[in-house]
Parts: sequence; C-alpha cells; structure tokens
Amino acid sequence: MKASEIRSKWLDFFAEKGHKIEPSASLVPHNDPSLLWINAGMAPLKPYFDGRVKPENPRIANSQKCIRTNDIENVGKTRRHHTFFEMLGNFSIGDYFKEEVITWAWEFLTDKKWIGFDPEKLSVTVYPEDEEAYKLWNEKIGLPAERIIKLQDNFWDIGEGPCGPCTEIFYDRGEGYDTEAPESEMFPGGENERWLEVWNLVFSQFNHNKDGSYTPLPNKNIDTGAGLERFASILQNVASNFDTDLFQPIIQKTAELAGVKYNEKTEYDIALKVIADHIRTVAFAVGDGVLPSNEGRGYVIRRLLRRAVRYGKVLGLDKPFMYTLTETVGDIMGVYYPEVVEKRAFIEKVIATEEEQFHKTLSDGLNILAEVSAEAKNQGKTIISGSDAFKLYDTYGFPFDLTEDYASEHGLTVDREGFDAAMKEQRDRARAARHETESMKVQGGVLSDYTVKSEFVGYNDTVSEAKVL
Ligand code: ATP
Ligand code: MG
Ligand code: MG
Ligand code: MG
Repeated sequence: MKASEIRSKWLDFFAEKGHKIEPSASLVPHNDPSLLWINAGMAPLKPYFDGRVKPENPRIANSQKCIRTNDIENVGKTRRHHTFFEMLGNFSIGDYFKEEVITWAWEFLTDKKWIGFDPEKLSVTVYPEDEEAYKLWNEKIGLPAERIIKLQDNFWDIGEGPCGPCTEIFYDRGEGYDTEAPESEMFPGGENERWLEVWNLVFSQFNHNKDGSYTPLPNKNIDTGAGLERFASILQNVASNFDTDLFQPIIQKTAELAGVKYNEKTEYDIALKVIADHIRTVAFAVGDGVLPSNEGRGYVIRRLLRRAVRYGKVLGLDKPFMYTLTETVGDIMGVYYPEVVEKRAFIEKVIATEEEQFHKTLSDGLNILAEVSAEAKNQGKTIISGSDAFKLYDTYGFPFDLTEDYASEHGLTVDREGFDAAMKEQRDRARAARHETESMKVQGGVLSDYTVKSEFVGYNDTVSEAKVL
C-alpha cells in the first residue's frame, strides 16, 4: 500500500466517524513562542485544546508536517526516526473519550477495509493507574493481559495545563528486527526496535495546577499521533522507513548521482538516509518561508544542510547536489503538500546558494589547513594548535571535526583542549560584551547597536523542552 493511500485512508476513516479534516499547518508555529517548530499534530490545534478558540466541529483529524530535531542523532541509525515526518492525528475537543478512541484505533489498524494489520502482532502500553484504558483493551478489544504493558512513563504532562495518561500501540516486526538492548528493555515501549511504536493516544483529563495538584478537567480531550512513515514500513513489508516509497526515490537518485549502490555498504547507507531525511526537512522548511541564517529556525536549517553536504562527501559528492533532490521530494509529496511543487524553483535556489557558500567555506578552509600543516611539519611538529583550529572555525566557519579529519589524513593531531579553551574564552568575551552593551544602552551610548555573534545552543526543537505527545 502506497504511503499516499495510507494517508487518504486515515483521513477517510476519521471523516466517516464525523471528523472535520484540517489541512496540515505550516511548520512554523503561529502565535506560539514556546515552540521552535511544529513537532506534533496537536501543536497547531492548541487554541482548541486550551479553550481559547471553539472549533467548528469538536472532532478533528489531520496529517501534519512535523520537525523534531531532537531525533537528529537517531536518523540513519534507527529504522524509525526522522527530523521531518508526517504525524497522522485524530482529536476530540471535549467530545468523545477513551472508549471511542481505543475502539476506532483498533478498527482502523485491524480491519481489512482500512490497514488490516494482523491483530496478533499488536501490543499496547498503558499508564499503571489507568484502569479504564486497561479494561477497554482487555475486555472490550480482547487483548490478552500479556500484551498490555503497564508503564509509568505513559503520562503526558508539560507542567501547568491539561495533561493525562496515554496508551501507545506497538507492532511486533518479528525476531529478525531485534536490536541490541539490555534485558530489562526487551518489551514494547523498551529500547528494542522489534516492537515498533506506531500510535500514541493521549487522554487529556486533568489540569496540572500551579500548586502542583491535579484536578479533573470539565472538558476532556483526546489527542493522538501516528507516524505515517512507520505505517508505510509495515504495510510495504520493508526493513525501515527509509525503504518505503516516501524515501526510496530520493535515496536512489542520490545513489545514482554519487555512483554508489544502496544496501551495499553501511557507511554509504547511513549517508544516503541522512541526506534523504535532511532534504525533506530543508525543502519543507524553506517552502514554509524559513531561510538559512545564523539564528533560530534559520540556523537549524543551515546546520542540517551543511550536515547533509558533509554526508555527501562520504559518498564522494563534491559539488552542490542537495538542491537537485527538491524535485524528487515534490514528486513524492506533492499530492498532499502542493507547496513543495509550487515553490520548487525558490526552494532550489535557496538551497543551491547555501550549498555553494558552504563549499566555498570548505575549500577556503582546506587551503588554510594545508598552509598550517605545512608550517607545523616544517617546525617538526605533529600537532595543529588549538588556536589555529579555532581561527578556522570562528573566522572561516570551518567545522572542527573536519579539521580533525584532515589532520588524521595527514599524520597530524589537533589540540582539542586548546580549541575548547579558545572557544570558552570567546564565549566569555561575548558575555562581557553583552553586559557592556546593556550598560551602554542605559547610558544611551553609541555602542547600543553592537551585536554579539549568535551561539548555537543545540538542536532543541522546543524552546521550553516541552514534551508534546
Ligand atoms: P519514539 O519513542 O519512537 O521516539 P515518540 O514516543 O517520541 O516515538 P510520540 O511523541 O508519541 O513519539 O509521537 C507520536 C507518533 O509519531 C509516534 O508513535 C511515531 O509513530 C511518530 N513519531 C514520533 N517521532 C518520530 C520521528 N522522529 N520520526 C518519525 N516518526 C515519529
Ligand atoms: Mg521520540
Ligand atoms: Mg516512544
Ligand atoms: Mg510515543
């Protein structure tokens, strides 16, 4: 079953159950300073959940574009994580509750008319104190007790505001999918990827009050999220999300450009997966108006693009290539997200410009490194100083680990401690300058428009680290 068909089935199923189908919102949150990116289907619907806006219909379903950069290290390593993915969701704003949502989830998953999973392959986790959910799974659905795992973690709570227990659904992909995990983690919801988490059903039934207490909400809500790419991997009977029709054309095109083959060498496969992942994220983000820059969302996009370019080097791709994949992303996603097709020329231009700039940075950096290492060798040294490495990084934007790679290829090492010390010194200077600026502002001094270089604070996808879904 094609991914686009799974998406349609989802929307048709919930439309039949009286839901209003909402189109995907932009990846850029609207009026929500707590989020850097939309990272769950519920995120753009928050005004309905907290009562600020009354929905036309209390039942809503969607397929929402999401970005989760906190999963970046997992990309290409696990079978199931992306930085950009589609979350299928159904929501009840003070309308239906646990019984309906569980019954419908089971129907959608196991009925041949819909996606028809083998019911024997499904297990669930519940919150230990949520007897209602346990009973529904056990008595109404008929799931045996050994396939209902009680997990303390199954409580969705982001501090003050609506919160509640959740129940998650896992598909057993079979022993062949066992991944290394400690004995204590060998269960659905543990670390073993054999049990693939497909769907999270959140019952938001309490209010987490300012004083830390919990009181029942007058209007109980339902918020669910399921990964389209994960459904596709099961329904297409392939090893990972990257082997589905959502990724394969991108991977094949990249492999062709590089003259390599997918599924031949682990190192190449990881690079191909990372590139396929990052081009989707970058193309969609640029399509939603985010431009590469040195701060905020723009910086995340710049970093992702540069990361992909460097993985391209692993494949021997030494010229800008990422922009040429935009067309393939559009071919795959255009049916539901026409923006990537309509804005193709713009997206390509933005990506190509950024790639060219980065390639220039890289070649300038390599020239300087060649001089620095020749000088070190002349002086009988085998080490590149921390201050040289820092200058390359700070002045030319040349990444430290590339300096390290270069060094080891040339029989040298890099003074990491010296680099860290120079970095710290620069931060301290920036901090001091910031204070100075503040005090000058007070005095109305001329330095008040002095700006300090922005500092990358990591790939947080939420500003407040909110754990949504
Ligand atoms: P996981 O434990 O696999 O990281 P999660 O518990 O963080 O997933 P939720 O926050 O519950 O995920 O999100 C709801 C659903 O969205 C998940 O059940 C999964 O199907 C999908 N999903 C979450 N994160 C990703 C991701 N990075 N890439 C692809 N799909 C994802
Ligand atoms: Mg996760
Ligand atoms: Mg999980
Ligand atoms: Mg989950």
